Amino acid sequence: MLPAAVLPTPLMPVDDPEFAAAGAELWLKRDDLAHPTVPGNKWRKLAPNLERAVAEGARGLLTYGGAYSTHVRAVAAAAGGLGLASVGVIRGAELAGQPRNWSLARAERDGMVLEFVERSVYRAVAGGRVERRAGYYVLPEGGSNGLAVRGAAVIAGELADQLTDFGSRDVVCCAVGTGGTLAGIAAGLPAGPQALGVAVLRGEGYLEDEVTVLHRAGCGREFANWRLAHGWHGGGYGRVPPELERFAGWFEAAYGVPVERRYVAKALWAVYGLLRAGELRDRRVTVVVTGVPDPAP
Ligand SMILES: *Cc1c(COP(=O)(O)O)cnc(C)c1O
Repeated sequence: MLPAAVLPTPLMPVDDPEFAAAGAELWLKRDDLAHPTVPGNKWRKLAPNLERAVAEGARGLLTYGGAYSTHVRAVAAAAGGLGLASVGVIRGAELAGQPRNWSLARAERDGMVLEFVERSVYRAVAGGRVERRAGYYVLPEGGSNGLAVRGAAVIAGELADQLTDFGSRDVVCCAVGTGGTLAGIAAGLPAGPQALGVAVLRGEGYLEDEVTVLHRAGCGREFANWRLAHGWHGGGYGRVPPELERFAGWFEAAYGVPVERRYVAKALWAVYGLLRAGELRDRRVTVVVTGVPDPAP
């Protein structure tokens, strides 16, 4: 059985003196608590896709990812829970003969069949988004498609119910990998609040285009209520410079919230940086905690 999601996810205030001194507020939307086996924003993005796959009578789910992909683990857990087969096409043919890392081991434990492909081939198959395999419902790398946008839009809908006077003072912030979560939040906001995405990889221009493509796919239109901050990727995807590690450790100790390092830490780092630069004065900033930290080694 696939356990049920626990929605709406909690919204908690962070009583931070720096925010208070700037007339601002910091809140956390605890999507890390959304689901017991399919973490964070991966649940939001998968939920409408799972419904579609089941409605279509798919026998399995197929997706793509790297050796530590949270999306791959999420698909494996969701498929396992629904009694569906799953296939993970994994970047890196050399991994086939090596002992599984914790992430791939977990996906296999949930019943996923892993197929390892050469990096050059991987780009073509994962980027094509066109692979058809009889009976399989195909999800793109990272899980962002039109339905994922609609799933993530629910985050903004919950916030509209949870925050009083939700309006032009509000900024809703999330980390951005493929852009589906940001696209959904922007699409789900009422008029007034702005969505702020923090790029966790070097993607100026490219990521803006991705979000726009996703808006067209999910909603049939574009939106003007969002922007991306590009100065906080810390050197690129998966890079955690010492300054960011110190910041994340401080935040965890100060406020008792586990901080996932590849994404959530960068979103929080960015809002403190923008606050210090005077850009969030008087704003109510809600950071969406989009996932959980990796298990300790
Ligand atoms: C995958 C992931 C993201 C990125 O979401 P996109 O929709 O791909 O932009 C953000 N935070 C966490 C914790 C993630 O695992």
